[in-house]
Amino acid sequence: AGDAADPSGRTVLDRFAEAVAESRDDLTALDQLVGDGDFGDNLLGGVRRAQALDGAASGGMGALARAFLDDVGGTSGPLFGLLFQQLGAVSWPEEGVPDARSAAEAAEAGLAAVRRVGGAEVGDSTLVDALAPAARALGDAARDGADAPFSAAAEAAARGAAGTADLTPRRGRASYVGERAVGVPDPGALGVALLFLVLARVYEP
Ligand code: ADP
Ligand code: MG
Ligand code: MG
Repeated sequence: AGDAADPSGRTVLDRFAEAVAESRDDLTALDQLVGDGDFGDNLLGGVRRAQALDGAASGGMGALARAFLDDVGGTSGPLFGLLFQQLGAVSWPEEGVPDARSAAEAAEAGLAAVRRVGGAEVGDSTLVDALAPAARALGDAARDGADAPFSAAAEAAARGAAGTADLTPRRGRASYVGERAVGVPDPGALGVALLFLVLARVYEP
């Protein structure tokens, strides 16, 4: 059976790990330009730790939350941990597709938690610039009864992440680089976009 027949939390976790492993070097290179070059390893390390936990519950989000909150350093560790924690609060089905409206509410809760702790607004060139449009697109798609809400979220996240290249970072290490970071997309935002891309591919293949 393909992923469409069995989109469990384990599937999400393993596909996310695959995607992050493929992107690790690119994410690291970007973090070398605007930060300290550890983001690719932080993200991959957390996903690998989550894989070592029992990953099937809560759409894989529970294991990701525990791994990132407990074990991942950097600024991104706790922030991704908070996002995964909120996403894990949705009642993810063992099989089949999660309810888009619940997922949208969870994504909004994740966004609120990240903003509360990190203090970033939209436009500061952080992962918020991918997460905020993704949460909104998911909510809009759920309200409209759209066919592919996770794909809409993934597209919005990818657009938001790409758009960070035009911004002057105002939070995190990239803010020290300031205007010299213009032209470089924010690695954390690309990481968030990767998460929604994986959800779209798993649940809307
Ligand atoms: P560090 O800078 O501590 O090495 P990481 O490299 O693990 O952290 O993560 C960097 C990413 O964290 C950035 O690309 C950005 O998306 C995100 N980030 C940094 N600071 C904030 C913040 N205050 N709010 C939201 N996201 C942030
Ligand atoms: Mg870093
Ligand atoms: Mg660091």
